Amino acid sequence: MAAVVCPCGSGRDYAKCCARFIEGNEVAANAEALMRSRYTAYTLNAETYLLATWHPSTRPTSLPLDANDKTRWLGLEVKRFAVDAADENKAVVEFVARFKVGGNRAERLHEISRFVREDGRWFYVDGELDGKNAQQRAAMARG
Ligand SMILES: [Zn+2]
Repeated sequence: MAAVVCPCGSGRDYAKCCARFIEGNEVAANAEALMRSRYTAYTLNAETYLLATWHPSTRPTSLPLDANDKTRWLGLEVKRFAVDAADENKAVVEFVARFKVGGNRAERLHEISRFVREDGRWFYVDGELDGKNAQQRAAMARG
C-alpha cells in the first residue's frame, strides 16, 4: 500500500503517525500527540477512538459525526502545547482546524483544549472555542 501522509499535519506517514494510536495499541505520549490523533480520528469518523480518548466526566454518549461525509477537513495547526507547571498530569493544546461543509466556505475551528493524564493515558476533557466554552458547541451539536 502506498504511503499516506497523516491528516494531522505532522508530515509523516499515517501508518507511522496517528494510526499507531487510532488503529494500534500505542498510547499517545503527550497531550499534543493525542490531540493530533483525535483530529485525524475526526477526519476518519473514528468515533470509537474519539470516545475512548474522551475523559469519562465530560464524554458524550455518541458523537454527531458526519455520516454523509459532507465535511472535509482541510488541515490542523497546533498553536500552543503546554503542560501545567504545577501539575504534570494536566495540559492544554491550542489549535486551529480548518474544514468545509459541502460547497460552503472554509471555516476555522479555534479551540484551547484541556487534557488530563490518568493511569498513564491522556484524555480530552473540554475546551474553549474562541473564548467561549466548547460545551456550548457540544450542546448545539446534540441539538
Ligand atoms: Zn498524525
